[in-house]
Amino acid sequence: MMSGSFFAQQDGPALLTKELSASRPPNLRDYAAERARFDWNNAWARLDGLPGGAGHNMAHEAVDRHAAGPRAERVAIRWIGKSGARRDLTYGELKVATNRFANALFSLGVEPGERVFVLMGRLPELYVAVLGALKARCVVSPLFSAFGPEPIATRMEMGEGRVLVTTPALYRRKVAGIRDELPGLEHVILVGDEPTEGPGLHAWQPLIEGSSADFTIAPTDPEDMALLHFTSGTTGRPKGAIHVHGAVVAHDITGYYALDLHDDDVFWCTADPGWVTGTSYGILAPLTNGVTSIVVEAEFDAQTWYSVLEREKVSVWYTAPTAIRMMMRLGTEAVRGYDLSALRFMASVGEPLNPEAVVWGEEAFGLPFHDNWWQTETGGIMIANLAALPIKPGSMGLPLPGIDAAVVRRSEAGDDVEIIEAPMVEGELALRKGWPSIMRGYLGEEERYRKCFAGDWYLTGDLAKRDEDGYFWFVGRADDVIKSAGHLIGPFEVESALMEHPAVAEAAVIGIPDETVGEIVKAFVALKPSNEADEALRKELLGHARRRLGPAVAPKQIDFRKELPRTRSGKIMRRLLKARELGLPEGDLSTLESDEQR
Ligand code: AMP
Repeated sequence: MMSGSFFAQQDGPALLTKELSASRPPNLRDYAAERARFDWNNAWARLDGLPGGAGHNMAHEAVDRHAAGPRAERVAIRWIGKSGARRDLTYGELKVATNRFANALFSLGVEPGERVFVLMGRLPELYVAVLGALKARCVVSPLFSAFGPEPIATRMEMGEGRVLVTTPALYRRKVAGIRDELPGLEHVILVGDEPTEGPGLHAWQPLIEGSSADFTIAPTDPEDMALLHFTSGTTGRPKGAIHVHGAVVAHDITGYYALDLHDDDVFWCTADPGWVTGTSYGILAPLTNGVTSIVVEAEFDAQTWYSVLEREKVSVWYTAPTAIRMMMRLGTEAVRGYDLSALRFMASVGEPLNPEAVVWGEEAFGLPFHDNWWQTETGGIMIANLAALPIKPGSMGLPLPGIDAAVVRRSEAGDDVEIIEAPMVEGELALRKGWPSIMRGYLGEEERYRKCFAGDWYLTGDLAKRDEDGYFWFVGRADDVIKSAGHLIGPFEVESALMEHPAVAEAAVIGIPDETVGEIVKAFVALKPSNEADEALRKELLGHARRRLGPAVAPKQIDFRKELPRTRSGKIMRRLLKARELGLPEGDLSTLESDEQR
């Protein structure tokens, strides 16, 4: 089946061949043929549509359609709590729970199109809230529970959140203090029953119990806004990427192709729904594919993870390089002793997956990790190492059927691109417009959105190369955003939080390479006069940033500088700081204005 001709030129990096199961052939068996015949209309035909031709709603495709058929009794979500407690929700039960939540929103007077933010750990209610709000045709914006008050306030204010679903502890620690900044936030629904005070608070349980279990999803245009995912750029505030209900067709087909989901799979996506992977592939794609999805509340711990894989008989596992590297550090021995025979496919996303990690998968699990690539803006997996094809360790893989990818150079004017045909030449990774899950805009930022496109192409902001077999290789980011433990961090947001501190005159933030988490956030700070650049102040600034931003975003290191290098137009030259930090060439310094090292 694996055509040798597809890899006519094998003088590039080594291929990792695999033995394919005859009893369970991959969904995407013949890449070239499937690409040639692919048509998005056929992908749409895999979905159901609302009864009576009333459009497409994500939650209908994920839940109600299965609840109405032979999968009604199948476990849709198996939740494993921190204490090891387990709770199953079948497709039928998930339908009822999400119906109740949709009714609860309406009982509070919340209207379709209004924004429902979700801020909590991986609790079952999170999944019910997201899917229920989609049924009510509200726009859902998941926030990462390790964010501090600052990123929460910025995103909820930008997104005009009317409802927040959270827990009492998170509310008290992170939201109560920013309520004044969020006049539009009318309802806060609290999951858990610790007594908590504040305006517009509602307890989840009585609200749900008092709501009807019957709900009919109103007609939903596939172009209706469904999800608002905030992501970071180099400058300015975070960007609210708008996704529509019709993106579900891409979630579904990419789950089928790139994650090779089969009907009876037990699937575990380790990503948190506070980030796009945890929503598209931790909630939607497994459910549209009708499989059982495992949700683990606890944070990473290798032994816990291995026992989840064993006990739950996970067959398809979607995880991330930072976690894989943490497991690698413990060695293959730590995996022995677990019966992981149910596992048949492993994939990774979110940051570069080093070739050693791919190969380590083989040693430890008898299976390689299949790296794949996408980003918040693309809504779903675009490029992947596929089940049926040998892996090129270190490469992100091939564009999925329905997706055209290229390495390009932007024209001078920025309004067109030149495609770089020559293999292994670096350029910007671009995708031809027109796939259904591409973002429909950055909330309130038309210009920023427009700049992502040139001619027929969406420009990803990633630098990449393409080899002679069509495989894509990640090179780096074209901008200054930082990827730490798989989380995209905007330097501007970190700099702004540091500059709120009375001792800080200016700040510049960069990512520096780290063997485990990819990059760690490092800040350079220039102090206002009469402040002492000492250890006590460094600790105070680290603590200040952690309190404001939360541990996922705050810098891990701070260095003091008398002055930060700036261009003549006043922009801080983060790239120069980075080059110096890493001992790299400093590049073109002709625009450098002020700098203590000159
Ligand atoms: P996010 O929008 O937070 O999902 O981050 C998307 C960014 O993560 C991409 O633009 C890449 O820079 C990076 N990324 C995602 N997947 C990969 C991958 N497989 N290899 C390298 N970088 C990746």
